[in-house]
Amino acid sequence: MAAGDDSHRPALRLQGVRKSYGQVVAVAGVDLTVEEGEFFTLLGPSGSGKTTLLRLIAGFERPDTGRIELGGRDVTSTPPYLRDTNTVFQDYALFPHMSVADNIGYGLRVKGVSRQPREERVQRALKMVRLEGLGRRRPNQLSGGQRQRVALARAVVNEPEVLLLDEPLGALDLKLRQEMQIELKQIQKEVGITFIYVTHDQEEALTMSDRVAVMSNGQIEQIGSPVDVYERPATEFVAGFIGISNVLVRDGVRFVVRPEKIRMLAESETADPGMTVEPGRVEEIIYVGMTTRYLVHLDRGERLVAVRQNMDALGDAQKFQGRPVRLAWTAEHTYVLDKGR
Ligand code: ADP
Ligand code: MG
Repeated sequence: MAAGDDSHRPALRLQGVRKSYGQVVAVAGVDLTVEEGEFFTLLGPSGSGKTTLLRLIAGFERPDTGRIELGGRDVTSTPPYLRDTNTVFQDYALFPHMSVADNIGYGLRVKGVSRQPREERVQRALKMVRLEGLGRRRPNQLSGGQRQRVALARAVVNEPEVLLLDEPLGALDLKLRQEMQIELKQIQKEVGITFIYVTHDQEEALTMSDRVAVMSNGQIEQIGSPVDVYERPATEFVAGFIGISNVLVRDGVRFVVRPEKIRMLAESETADPGMTVEPGRVEEIIYVGMTTRYLVHLDRGERLVAVRQNMDALGDAQKFQGRPVRLAWTAEHTYVLDKGR
């Protein structure tokens, strides 16, 4: 959208937002714009400031400096209940003594929505999260995944402009988490609400998001589409945090080549013209089911990981242990990292 276009109202805009707790700088000056209807993810390791940033957006915390806008309105000093946001927490925070339906309808009741329309909206929300017929149960009669859906329904039913989600799938086991990732994304598309999603899980971020902001030490290192941050990491931190970091140094320039872009040549095999070829020795072989990872110590010093799909018979990989190999890649699959960061 063109700068200076007055009709353009992003769902969220942060300008120079900072927040410290005593000596600890939790959020160190963040600028960010999220468009309406986006699935936007804050991705970073534990302690990088994700939760603090989300709490600032929700209004549970006030920034030391900076400005927060929701839907084009300055809400920097607005209390949480007057902001058009809702938050889904990792521990769900459901009321244990209330039925599922009452949990979901709670926000509407507080807002004074009368019984009939309230019940209709609760039923619609139950249907959306695929929990029809379970409205009379108590939270402790549900599985973890079902509870997570109740928490989501309880937030979505209020139809906020922006939904804030802080590691909402963190308590679920891997398989359920992967299923819920797909469902959450579908629900977000259906309802069209802007999602701001916090996770430390890079795969989760890449799977679900329209755009990702990668955070480290209270700052944003890079903002981009999943393909941008994975294929074209701006910094060494991003390269290492999203996926396996293969960093090479040549003439003082640091660059990245992703494991799946590296070809491990068989002894008799020659590289295509134009490929960079580096000799080395296989130090370790790690079997990970669908693929096998080869840790190769290059003669020039660096260690690189190469990945191969397991198309061949089992055990085939082991023959490379300790053996000299050559790694090959093309220039178009390498990305120069920002200098001085
Ligand atoms: P994340 O959610 O990415 O794990 P947080 O936003 O929770 O990170 O924390 C960022 C930093 O701020 C951490 O160093 C954390 O210890 C500190 N922090 C967060 N909340 C508080 C608080 N209420 N009091 C003191 N320090 C805090
Ligand atoms: Mg957190």
